Amino acid sequence: MVIITGIPGVGKSTITKLALKQTRAKFRLINFGDIMFEEAVKSGLVKHRDEMRKLSPEVQKGLQLKAAEKIVEIARKEPVLIDTHATIRTPVGYLLGFPKEVIEIINPNFIVIIEATPSEILGRRLRDLKRDRDVETEEQIERHQDLNRAAAISYAMHSNALIKIIENHEDKGLKEAVSELVEILDMAVGEYD
Ligand code: AMP
Ligand code: MG
Repeated sequence: MVIITGIPGVGKSTITKLALKQTRAKFRLINFGDIMFEEAVKSGLVKHRDEMRKLSPEVQKGLQLKAAEKIVEIARKEPVLIDTHATIRTPVGYLLGFPKEVIEIINPNFIVIIEATPSEILGRRLRDLKRDRDVETEEQIERHQDLNRAAAISYAMHSNALIKIIENHEDKGLKEAVSELVEILDMAVGEYD
């Protein structure tokens, strides 16, 4: 199992979709937020996915645990790539995407962090108006990315995961980032061969 993270606007979904077309084995792509959202709607907690981060931390943790259990079940049968966030910026502070009990259930082989410069991320956010995203400054984006690296270390502490950082810059191009991810996915799939 591989976890892929990156703050909104970094290009994570784009890189992921392209990489999954090139892997040796077929991966099932699971958006962690989708599974949490299904559970949240079932329990009548929210109507829109962007409301989830405003729920109390305890309620969000309950959703994370349920999602993790569902995903582990799927991962018994096929390689899984989880599209998610290392930390979530909530109105009361940064929430860990994978608290201890949750990362222990998932026990990923790799935690991938997609990064770009704050100005690249701001530019990409401005071009994507579909989502109800909070407005952040370049300083806030930089801090969020710093925190995500720190969070990844804590996840590695509670699992067997290795951490991989992939840069997605305008000049270097998407192609290089995609092939770096393909390489990681091909390594991770060994256990299913
Ligand atoms: P996304 O579509 O990836 O931007 O995720 C939508 C929402 O799902 C986020 O704003 C969070 O509220 C929630 N979410 C996704 N992954 C996690 C996670 N690991 N822990 C808590 N909430 C998450
Ligand atoms: Mg996304």
